[in-house]
This record gives sequence, C-alpha cells and structure tokens, in this order.
Amino acid sequence: MPVVDGRWFVVDERQQVLLIDGQIPVGIEPPVGDSSRHLMGLDSGTPIWAARATGGFDDPEDAEWVHLRALFGRIPETDWAFAGRASQVLLWERDHQYCGRCGAKNEHHPTDRAQQCPDCGLQSFPRISPAVIMLIERDDGKVLLAWGAQFPGRFFSALAGFVEPGESLEECVAREVREEVGIEIDDIQYFGSQPWPFPHSMMIGFRARYVSGDITIQEEEIVEAGWYGPDELPPVPKGGMSIAGWLIQDWLDRTAASL
Ligand SMILES: [Zn+2]
Repeated sequence: MPVVDGRWFVVDERQQVLLIDGQIPVGIEPPVGDSSRHLMGLDSGTPIWAARATGGFDDPEDAEWVHLRALFGRIPETDWAFAGRASQVLLWERDHQYCGRCGAKNEHHPTDRAQQCPDCGLQSFPRISPAVIMLIERDDGKVLLAWGAQFPGRFFSALAGFVEPGESLEECVAREVREEVGIEIDDIQYFGSQPWPFPHSMMIGFRARYVSGDITIQEEEIVEAGWYGPDELPPVPKGGMSIAGWLIQDWLDRTAASL
C-alpha cells in the first residue's frame, strides 16, 4: 500500500481518464474505487499510479471523465503520456485475466509487469501492436496523402498499417504502400516513434521516396489519395498530438527551408 501521496491516473472501461478540478488527482489512495492498481514509476519521487475504475461508486465533486483523445492539450504532454500508458496497462490486465493456453485464472507476476498462469506457467506481457506510418515524397516536392476509410469526414494523412509476423518494419512499409496505393518506393528512412494507446499500438514513422507506378487505391482501405504540394494541402494534421502530424509538419518545415 502506498504511504506517500501519489498521482492517480484513473481510467475506466471506455478509456476515459478522471480529472478532479481539471487536474490529475493526487493522494495516498485513489479518489474513487478501483479494481486494480499498478505502480508505473516515480516522477521526481512522486509515485505514478494507474488505477482501473469500475462502476458502483459515487463520483466525487468536481470530478470529470475525459476521453484520452480529448485529454490531449488539457493536461501537460508528459501527463498525457502517463495517461496513455495507464490505459494500456489497465486494458491489457482486463483482457488477460485468463490463461490463453489452458484457461486457468492468471495471477500477477510477483516482480515483472506480467500475468502468469499458475497451472501451465504461461506468461502474458502487456500487448503492444507495432504499426508503421510513412510519408512518401516525390522528386517534384509533393507528398502522397490519403483519406483512409476509417475517417468519417474528408481528412487526409500519411499511409499506415500494422506489422505482420515475420516482417521487418521496412518490408511492412513497402508492402502497405504497394497494397494501399499500388506504387513502389525506396530510400525508407526512420523518422521516429510514438506509443499510440488506441488501444495498444506503437506507431513507427518513416519517410520514403517514390520510385514508380500510378496511384491505384485499395478501396476497402482508402477513399481517396493523391500527390500534394505544400500550397495545395487537403485537410491534414500538422504537428499536434500524432506522429502523422509530426511527419507532415517536418516535411513542410524542410520544404519551407529549401525555398
Ligand atoms: Zn495456463
């Protein structure tokens, strides 16, 4: 049990995070009932806790539940990262209560962040699903942007896709681009990465260069795709909370610097 004040990242089943007076709550115990808790680490000596909120309690006064996506910009970015981490750990724990091999009830591993089966010994670690995201540049200064079918409104971004077993990240980049828009690329360069807690992705960003082919969209995945210069952009993220926005902003900055 904690004996000093900690900061409580309380997350519910719908990835909503508890704020009290607009802040991440502080205390020895969480401000609401929790079904499980994980110590995520120390921040300048202050314990950082993840707690899974379950129903059946009265919300304290001044409490507010804010979805993780909507929380960006309302609290410091370091706290937003903690909230995402808390959500990932808590949802993983909820979804791995039973052994996937023999069905016995899992137990917490005594020292590691893992669930362990008392019968067959199978260990389950927090699930992280790697996905690549890539901005394709062409020699005429344009980039390939696509409106993915998952976006309800006309909104463009870099191409992205999940890594398959047995595939390198670079192979995944080339395959996804070929599948989604039918073009060939090379010069695949690492850009950066971002944990993306919706619900448990790890986005790995790349830049790449167009080689050949005309855009042929995969209609189940892509509504519309095209080549765009800096002055003719459709609605896109720039900077902001996602690596998609960072990739596009980086390209805009480099393009502006070269003029
Ligand atoms: Zn088992």
